[in-house]
Amino acid sequence: PYAAIGIEVNADYLTAVAIDLAGQQVLSWRRSFAGLTSSPAQAATAIAALGRRAVNRVLKEDRRVLGLTVGVPGLVSPDGVVIMAPNLGWRDVNLRDIVNRALGEPGFPVAVDNDANLAVLAESRYGAFAGSQNLIYLTGEVGIGAGIISDGQPLRGHRGFPGEIGHITIDPQGPPCACGRRGCLEAIAGITAIIARVLPEVAGDGDITDLQPEVDEVVRRARAGDPAALHALDDVGRALGQGVSILANLLDPEVIVLGGYFVPLAPWLLPPVEAELRARRIGPDTGSPQVVASILDHGAAATGGAATILDHIDAGRLPRP
Ligand code: BGC
Ligand code: ZN
Repeated sequence: PYAAIGIEVNADYLTAVAIDLAGQQVLSWRRSFAGLTSSPAQAATAIAALGRRAVNRVLKEDRRVLGLTVGVPGLVSPDGVVIMAPNLGWRDVNLRDIVNRALGEPGFPVAVDNDANLAVLAESRYGAFAGSQNLIYLTGEVGIGAGIISDGQPLRGHRGFPGEIGHITIDPQGPPCACGRRGCLEAIAGITAIIARVLPEVAGDGDITDLQPEVDEVVRRARAGDPAALHALDDVGRALGQGVSILANLLDPEVIVLGGYFVPLAPWLLPPVEAELRARRIGPDTGSPQVVASILDHGAAATGGAATILDHIDAGRLPRP
Protein backbone atom coordinates (compact mmCIF):
# COMPACT_ATOMS: atom_id res chain seq x y z
CA PRO A 1 0.00 0.00 0.00
CA TYR A 2 0.86 3.65 -0.44
CA ALA A 3 0.37 6.97 1.33
CA ALA A 4 0.62 10.66 0.50
CA ILE A 5 1.56 13.06 3.28
CA GLY A 6 0.42 16.63 3.88
CA ILE A 7 1.73 18.98 6.57
CA GLU A 8 -0.01 22.18 7.61
CA VAL A 9 2.00 24.95 9.23
CA ASN A 10 0.13 27.43 11.40
CA ALA A 11 1.50 30.12 13.66
CA ASP A 12 0.53 28.10 16.74
CA TYR A 13 0.52 24.43 15.73
CA LEU A 14 1.60 21.94 13.10
CA THR A 15 -0.58 19.19 11.79
CA ALA A 16 0.12 16.35 9.42
CA VAL A 17 -2.01 13.70 7.73
CA ALA A 18 -1.34 10.71 5.57
CA ILE A 19 -3.97 9.49 3.11
CA ASP A 20 -4.09 6.36 1.00
CA LEU A 21 -4.67 6.14 -2.74
CA ALA A 22 -8.43 6.21 -2.20
CA GLY A 23 -8.11 9.48 -0.28
CA GLN A 24 -8.87 7.89 3.10
CA GLN A 25 -6.95 9.30 6.05
CA VAL A 26 -4.65 6.65 7.51
CA LEU A 27 -2.65 8.67 10.06
CA SER A 28 -2.75 12.14 11.61
CA TRP A 29 -0.65 14.24 13.97
CA ARG A 30 -1.06 17.60 15.70
CA ARG A 31 1.59 19.34 17.77
CA SER A 32 2.05 22.74 19.32
CA PHE A 33 4.45 24.97 17.42
CA ALA A 34 6.01 28.27 18.43
CA GLY A 35 5.89 29.53 14.85
CA LEU A 36 5.10 33.08 15.86
CA THR A 37 8.29 33.51 17.86
CA SER A 38 10.86 30.97 16.72
CA SER A 39 13.47 31.84 14.13
CA PRO A 40 12.83 30.65 10.57
CA ALA A 41 15.68 28.18 10.93
CA GLN A 42 14.26 26.70 14.17
CA ALA A 43 10.77 26.60 12.73
CA ALA A 44 11.87 24.98 9.51
CA THR A 45 13.73 22.36 11.53
CA ALA A 46 10.58 21.57 13.53
CA ILE A 47 8.56 21.26 10.32
CA ALA A 48 11.16 19.02 8.77
CA ALA A 49 11.26 16.89 11.95
CA LEU A 50 7.50 16.35 11.80
CA GLY A 51 7.90 15.42 8.14
CA ARG A 52 10.54 12.86 9.03
CA ARG A 53 8.37 11.42 11.79
CA ALA A 54 5.39 11.16 9.46
CA VAL A 55 7.46 9.45 6.79
CA ASN A 56 8.87 6.96 9.31
CA ARG A 57 5.43 6.11 10.66
CA VAL A 58 4.07 5.57 7.17
CA LEU A 59 7.00 3.30 6.31
CA LYS A 60 6.49 1.37 9.55
CA GLU A 61 2.94 0.66 8.41
CA ASP A 62 4.47 -0.92 5.30
CA ARG A 63 3.32 1.87 3.05
CA ARG A 64 5.42 3.59 0.43
CA VAL A 65 5.41 7.38 0.49
CA LEU A 66 4.18 8.92 -2.77
CA GLY A 67 5.01 12.51 -1.89
CA LEU A 68 4.85 15.20 0.77
CA THR A 69 3.30 18.67 0.48
CA VAL A 70 3.65 21.41 3.09
CA GLY A 71 1.03 24.16 3.38
CA VAL A 72 2.27 27.44 4.87
CA PRO A 73 0.47 30.64 5.86
CA GLY A 74 2.10 32.88 3.29
CA LEU A 75 3.15 33.59 -0.27
CA VAL A 76 5.01 30.69 -1.85
CA SER A 77 6.90 30.62 -5.14
CA PRO A 78 6.35 27.64 -7.46
CA ASP A 79 9.74 26.21 -6.47
CA GLY A 80 8.82 26.08 -2.79
CA VAL A 81 10.38 29.27 -1.45
CA VAL A 82 8.25 31.03 1.17
CA ILE A 83 8.55 34.62 -0.07
CA MET A 84 6.74 36.02 2.95
CA ALA A 85 4.64 34.59 5.75
CA PRO A 86 3.45 37.58 7.79
CA ASN A 87 2.43 35.68 10.92
CA LEU A 88 5.63 33.64 10.99
CA GLY A 89 7.81 36.66 10.27
CA TRP A 90 9.42 34.78 7.38
CA ARG A 91 10.95 36.24 4.23
CA ASP A 92 12.57 34.15 1.51
CA VAL A 93 12.80 30.84 3.34
CA ASN A 94 13.55 27.95 0.99
CA LEU A 95 11.39 25.51 2.90
CA ARG A 96 11.30 22.87 0.17
CA ASP A 97 15.07 22.68 0.23
CA ILE A 98 15.19 22.45 4.04
CA VAL A 99 12.57 19.69 4.21
CA ASN A 100 14.18 17.81 1.33
CA ARG A 101 17.54 17.88 3.06
CA ALA A 102 16.05 16.86 6.42
CA LEU A 103 14.51 13.86 4.69
CA GLY A 104 17.85 13.02 3.08
CA GLU A 105 16.75 13.60 -0.54
CA PRO A 106 13.97 11.08 -0.08
CA GLY A 107 13.23 10.06 -3.67
CA PHE A 108 9.62 11.28 -3.60
CA PRO A 109 8.46 14.79 -4.48
CA VAL A 110 8.37 17.44 -1.76
CA ALA A 111 6.30 20.54 -2.51
CA VAL A 112 5.32 23.70 -0.62
CA ASP A 113 2.20 25.75 -1.26
CA ASN A 114 -0.06 28.34 0.34
CA ASP A 115 -2.32 26.92 3.08
CA ALA A 116 -5.58 28.38 1.75
CA ASN A 117 -4.88 27.20 -1.79
CA LEU A 118 -4.40 23.66 -0.47
CA ALA A 119 -7.32 23.74 1.96
CA VAL A 120 -9.82 24.60 -0.77
CA LEU A 121 -8.75 21.46 -2.65
CA ALA A 122 -9.60 19.34 0.41
CA GLU A 123 -12.89 21.17 0.79
CA SER A 124 -13.81 20.59 -2.84
CA ARG A 125 -12.97 16.89 -2.54
CA TYR A 126 -14.23 15.98 0.92
CA GLY A 127 -16.34 18.90 2.17
CA ALA A 128 -20.11 19.30 2.35
CA PHE A 129 -20.07 21.07 -1.05
CA ALA A 130 -17.65 18.65 -2.71
CA GLY A 131 -17.61 19.13 -6.44
CA SER A 132 -18.92 22.70 -6.36
CA GLN A 133 -17.56 24.68 -9.33
CA ASN A 134 -17.54 27.97 -7.42
CA LEU A 135 -16.34 27.48 -3.91
CA ILE A 136 -14.25 29.60 -1.56
CA TYR A 137 -12.55 28.37 1.62
CA LEU A 138 -11.54 30.88 4.29
CA THR A 139 -8.82 29.83 6.74
CA GLY A 140 -9.71 30.80 10.28
CA GLU A 141 -6.24 30.88 11.76
CA VAL A 142 -4.01 33.71 12.98
CA GLY A 143 -4.16 34.89 9.38
CA ILE A 144 -7.11 34.74 7.02
CA GLY A 145 -6.60 33.48 3.49
CA ALA A 146 -9.06 32.57 0.74
CA GLY A 147 -8.65 29.48 -1.38
CA ILE A 148 -10.75 29.99 -4.49
CA ILE A 149 -12.25 27.59 -7.01
CA SER A 150 -13.81 29.66 -9.78
CA ASP A 151 -15.65 28.06 -12.71
CA GLY A 152 -14.24 24.71 -11.65
CA GLN A 153 -10.60 25.87 -11.63
CA PRO A 154 -8.42 26.64 -8.61
CA LEU A 155 -7.48 30.31 -9.00
CA ARG A 156 -3.68 30.66 -9.16
CA GLY A 157 -3.23 34.33 -10.17
CA HIS A 158 -0.45 35.92 -12.19
CA ARG A 159 2.25 35.49 -9.54
CA GLY A 160 0.62 32.60 -7.68
CA PHE A 161 -0.67 34.68 -4.75
CA PRO A 162 -4.43 35.11 -5.16
CA GLY A 163 -6.92 35.19 -2.32
CA GLU A 164 -5.01 37.41 0.13
CA ILE A 165 -8.30 38.58 1.63
CA GLY A 166 -6.70 38.77 5.09
CA HIS A 167 -4.82 41.88 3.97
CA ILE A 168 -7.64 43.93 2.52
CA THR A 169 -8.18 47.09 4.56
CA ILE A 170 -11.30 47.05 6.69
CA ASP A 171 -10.38 50.02 8.86
CA PRO A 172 -7.50 52.34 7.81
CA GLN A 173 -7.14 53.41 11.44
CA GLY A 174 -7.45 49.87 12.74
CA PRO A 175 -4.96 47.71 14.67
CA PRO A 176 -1.54 46.93 13.18
CA CYS A 177 -1.25 43.81 11.03
CA ALA A 178 1.72 41.46 10.82
CA CYS A 179 2.13 42.57 7.19
CA GLY A 180 3.12 46.05 8.35
CA ARG A 181 -0.14 47.77 7.42
CA ARG A 182 -3.11 48.76 9.56
CA GLY A 183 -6.67 47.56 9.88
CA CYS A 184 -6.35 44.48 7.65
CA LEU A 185 -9.18 41.97 7.92
CA GLU A 186 -7.03 39.46 9.80
CA ALA A 187 -5.81 42.09 12.28
CA ILE A 188 -9.49 42.45 13.25
CA ALA A 189 -10.95 38.98 12.68
CA GLY A 190 -8.00 36.58 12.83
CA ILE A 191 -7.99 34.22 15.81
CA THR A 192 -5.40 36.11 17.87
CA ALA A 193 -7.43 39.30 17.33
CA ILE A 194 -10.58 37.47 18.46
CA ILE A 195 -8.84 36.09 21.55
CA ALA A 196 -7.46 39.54 22.39
CA ARG A 197 -10.98 41.00 22.18
CA VAL A 198 -12.80 38.30 24.13
CA LEU A 199 -10.08 37.41 26.65
CA PRO A 200 -8.23 40.69 27.25
CA GLU A 201 -6.62 39.21 30.36
CA VAL A 202 -4.65 36.61 28.34
CA ALA A 203 -3.79 38.96 25.46
CA GLY A 204 -0.19 39.93 25.26
CA ASP A 205 1.01 37.20 27.63
CA GLY A 206 3.38 36.07 24.90
CA ASP A 207 1.75 32.65 24.69
CA ILE A 208 2.39 31.37 21.21
CA THR A 209 1.71 27.70 21.74
CA ASP A 210 -1.45 25.97 20.53
CA LEU A 211 -4.32 28.48 20.76
CA GLN A 212 -6.98 25.76 21.08
CA PRO A 213 -7.40 26.20 24.88
CA GLU A 214 -8.01 29.94 24.42
CA VAL A 215 -10.50 29.28 21.65
CA ASP A 216 -12.27 26.78 23.93
CA GLU A 217 -12.52 29.51 26.56
CA VAL A 218 -13.98 31.96 24.03
CA VAL A 219 -16.60 29.34 23.14
CA ARG A 220 -17.33 28.71 26.82
CA ARG A 221 -17.95 32.41 27.47
CA ALA A 222 -20.13 32.78 24.40
CA ARG A 223 -22.18 29.73 25.42
CA ALA A 224 -22.59 31.17 28.90
CA GLY A 225 -23.99 34.33 27.33
CA ASP A 226 -21.20 36.60 28.56
CA PRO A 227 -22.26 40.01 27.15
CA ALA A 228 -18.71 41.26 26.46
CA ALA A 229 -17.86 38.05 24.59
CA LEU A 230 -21.07 38.15 22.55
CA HIS A 231 -20.53 41.80 21.67
CA ALA A 232 -16.93 41.17 20.59
CA LEU A 233 -17.91 38.18 18.45
CA ASP A 234 -20.67 40.20 16.79
CA ASP A 235 -18.18 42.98 15.97
CA VAL A 236 -15.65 40.54 14.58
CA GLY A 237 -18.38 38.77 12.62
CA ARG A 238 -19.35 42.09 10.99
CA ALA A 239 -15.75 42.67 9.86
CA LEU A 240 -15.58 39.12 8.56
CA GLY A 241 -18.90 39.74 6.80
CA GLN A 242 -17.35 42.70 4.99
CA GLY A 243 -14.57 40.47 3.71
CA VAL A 244 -17.06 37.77 2.76
CA SER A 245 -19.18 40.34 0.89
CA ILE A 246 -16.16 41.46 -1.16
CA LEU A 247 -15.55 37.84 -2.16
CA ALA A 248 -19.26 37.38 -2.93
CA ASN A 249 -19.50 40.45 -5.17
CA LEU A 250 -16.18 39.78 -6.86
CA LEU A 251 -16.41 36.06 -7.58
CA ASP A 252 -20.10 35.09 -7.30
CA PRO A 253 -19.40 31.80 -5.47
CA GLU A 254 -21.98 29.16 -4.65
CA VAL A 255 -20.62 28.74 -1.16
CA ILE A 256 -18.06 30.31 1.17
CA VAL A 257 -16.75 27.82 3.73
CA LEU A 258 -15.32 29.02 7.03
CA GLY A 259 -12.54 26.75 8.28
CA GLY A 260 -10.04 26.34 11.11
CA TYR A 261 -10.87 28.14 14.36
CA PHE A 262 -13.89 29.76 12.70
CA VAL A 263 -15.61 26.36 12.91
CA PRO A 264 -16.18 26.26 16.70
CA LEU A 265 -17.05 29.99 16.62
CA ALA A 266 -19.48 29.67 13.72
CA PRO A 267 -22.67 29.81 15.87
CA TRP A 268 -21.72 33.39 16.85
CA LEU A 269 -19.89 34.51 13.70
CA LEU A 270 -22.37 33.34 11.08
CA PRO A 271 -25.34 35.59 12.02
CA PRO A 272 -23.37 38.87 11.70
CA VAL A 273 -21.57 37.57 8.59
CA GLU A 274 -24.93 36.80 6.98
CA ALA A 275 -26.36 40.16 8.01
CA GLU A 276 -23.44 41.98 6.36
CA LEU A 277 -23.74 39.81 3.29
CA ARG A 278 -27.46 40.61 2.92
CA ALA A 279 -26.69 44.31 3.28
CA ARG A 280 -23.75 44.37 0.85
CA ARG A 281 -24.34 41.70 -1.79
CA ILE A 282 -25.25 43.07 -5.20
CA GLY A 283 -27.97 41.49 -7.36
CA PRO A 284 -31.19 39.65 -6.56
CA ASP A 285 -31.28 37.59 -3.38
CA THR A 286 -31.13 34.02 -4.63
CA GLY A 287 -29.77 32.74 -1.34
CA SER A 288 -26.22 32.48 -2.64
CA PRO A 289 -23.55 32.41 -1.65
CA GLN A 290 -24.26 30.22 1.30
CA VAL A 291 -21.83 30.70 4.16
CA VAL A 292 -21.18 27.52 6.14
CA ALA A 293 -18.75 26.11 8.67
CA SER A 294 -16.42 23.46 7.30
CA ILE A 295 -17.08 19.86 8.28
CA LEU A 296 -13.33 19.23 7.87
CA ASP A 297 -12.35 21.23 10.94
CA HIS A 298 -8.57 21.63 11.32
CA GLY A 299 -5.99 20.21 8.99
CA ALA A 300 -7.77 20.98 5.71
CA ALA A 301 -4.54 22.35 4.24
CA ALA A 302 -2.69 19.18 5.28
CA THR A 303 -5.37 17.02 3.68
CA GLY A 304 -5.38 19.21 0.58
CA GLY A 305 -1.60 18.98 0.41
CA ALA A 306 -1.73 15.20 0.49
CA ALA A 307 -4.58 15.19 -2.06
CA THR A 308 -2.53 17.23 -4.57
CA ILE A 309 -0.17 14.27 -4.80
CA LEU A 310 -3.09 12.03 -5.82
CA ASP A 311 -4.14 14.74 -8.32
CA HIS A 312 -0.65 14.75 -9.85
CA ILE A 313 -0.84 10.98 -10.23
CA ASP A 314 -4.32 11.20 -11.81
CA ALA A 315 -3.09 13.86 -14.22
CA GLY A 316 -0.02 11.78 -15.18
CA ARG A 317 2.44 14.29 -13.71
CA LEU A 318 3.64 11.68 -11.24
CA PRO A 319 4.00 7.99 -12.06
CA ARG A 320 1.08 5.77 -11.06
CA PRO A 321 2.26 3.24 -8.49
C1 BGC B 1 -1.23 35.11 4.66
C2 BGC B 1 -1.86 34.18 3.68
C3 BGC B 1 -2.40 32.95 4.39
C4 BGC B 1 -3.33 33.37 5.51
C5 BGC B 1 -3.88 32.19 6.29
C6 BGC B 1 -2.20 35.42 5.78
O1 BGC B 1 -1.56 36.21 6.74
O2 BGC B 1 -0.83 36.32 4.03
O3 BGC B 1 -0.93 33.81 2.68
O4 BGC B 1 -3.08 32.13 3.48
O5 BGC B 1 -2.65 34.23 6.39
O6 BGC B 1 -2.91 31.46 6.92
ZN1 ZN C 1 -2.14 42.76 6.69
